[in-house]
Amino acid sequence: MPKLLILGGGYGGLAVVQKLDDLSRGHTDWDMTLVDQRNFHLIQVRVHEVAANTIPAERVQVPFSELLNGRKVDLVQTTIEKIDPKARQVQTSAGTFDYDRLVVALGSETAYRNIPGMREYSFPMKDLEDAIRYRRTVINAFKEVSAPDAPPIQPKDERLTFVIGGGGLTGTELAGEMADFCQDLARRYNVPETSYRIVLLEGADHILPQLSKQYGDYVRGELRNRGVLVATNTFITKVEEGKVHLQDGRIIRSQIICWAGGIQAPAILAESGFEVQKDGRILTDAFLRSQQFPEVYVLGDAASIPDSRTGKYVPWTGQYAEREGHYLAESLWNEERGMRIEPYAPFSLGVAVSIGRNDALTISGPIKLNGIAGRLAKNISYDNYEWNIRHKPRILKV
Ligand SMILES: Cc1cc2nc3c(=O)[nH]c(=O)nc-3n(C[C@H](O)[C@H](O)[C@H](O)COP(=O)(O)OP(=O)(O)OC[C@H]3O[C@@H](n4cnc5c(N)ncnc54)[C@H](O)[C@@H]3O)c2cc1C
Repeated sequence: MPKLLILGGGYGGLAVVQKLDDLSRGHTDWDMTLVDQRNFHLIQVRVHEVAANTIPAERVQVPFSELLNGRKVDLVQTTIEKIDPKARQVQTSAGTFDYDRLVVALGSETAYRNIPGMREYSFPMKDLEDAIRYRRTVINAFKEVSAPDAPPIQPKDERLTFVIGGGGLTGTELAGEMADFCQDLARRYNVPETSYRIVLLEGADHILPQLSKQYGDYVRGELRNRGVLVATNTFITKVEEGKVHLQDGRIIRSQIICWAGGIQAPAILAESGFEVQKDGRILTDAFLRSQQFPEVYVLGDAASIPDSRTGKYVPWTGQYAEREGHYLAESLWNEERGMRIEPYAPFSLGVAVSIGRNDALTISGPIKLNGIAGRLAKNISYDNYEWNIRHKPRILKV
């Protein structure tokens, strides 16, 4: 049987495995192996909600044992160390794996953009561990300032100034969730609500630069109503312990800085000999194959997939990564049956931006929802994803 090795069980990798198994009803000719460093699938799109205590950590971890139960795939939990595309091998801490076809779905890592001190003094917001560490630090900040022997809280106190760098989806959503979290903590630790600050900094002229200015400005207004300070056209040039330096010379004093200002592909891709773009991603063709090694497919955050309709690259979101995984499973299944393989045609169902626990802006085609209705729509999209990965395949197989 030809060996199909899938690296990464995130949005893209899991979708390949589940869909191919579903389409073939468990009888694919591909000998599938999924490799991931974790023993659970991370619902990464909700990581910032863990960071702001909106949901518990368990909500974003779905064990692979559950998701792959009864499926024709081997799971190997190990760290991928190197890919050797010329030898068609992958080296891991559990040994070397051969493949006939490889799916690279290793996601992304935080891009620090060469900002001095950013890596050392900020919290990233990518993994569950980042979220848990951030949450603990925010709680401790309130606990410490309210201790009987703590120095009195000053205006703009750096101990309670939470700077978030990057007003894209992650930074903006975190700022909204933080407004609710800090309000809870202020009440719990008897700290005046006027004594903490949440500061969102964005370099572009509006937050959510992936959306139009009209939507960015709307969300900015909603965040402002919740007390979040939003600064656009604002670049961070340097970070030191407790200090964020801005391009215009101002310094914001803050003990807790989160950096959500960008992602890049994992360094392992370039280190493995793939020709990569500036952001470390592998350029694919319209069938999601590496242009250099056609037996290697690349999906999700690790891939630069040209979109011929927009002239840009397909956005790096969970929604697209999942759809790319489904497309690839269909292609492999068609190939197995000697059928024609169509190029990938990206499309979006819309976008949903949460603005705290009870508010979101959800846009899907002509439908625009805000407030609690927007948030409910966003929650439904989360629930729908979870239901699909947990239950739908089993029902289809009966
Ligand atoms: C806070 C936050 C909020 C977001 N919100 C949204 C949203 O609202 N909507 C949306 O569509 N997208 C959102 N995204 C983006 C979305 O999460 C990513 O685009 C998506 O997860 C990418 O899927 P992927 O399959 O490429 O990678 P991932 O889902 O990141 O999966 C990569 C997998 O590879 C594994 N892996 C990586 N390196 C190794 C290694 N060396 N060895 C072994 N295993 C490895 C990881 O453990 C992981 O399981 C958000 C992201 C973040 C961080």
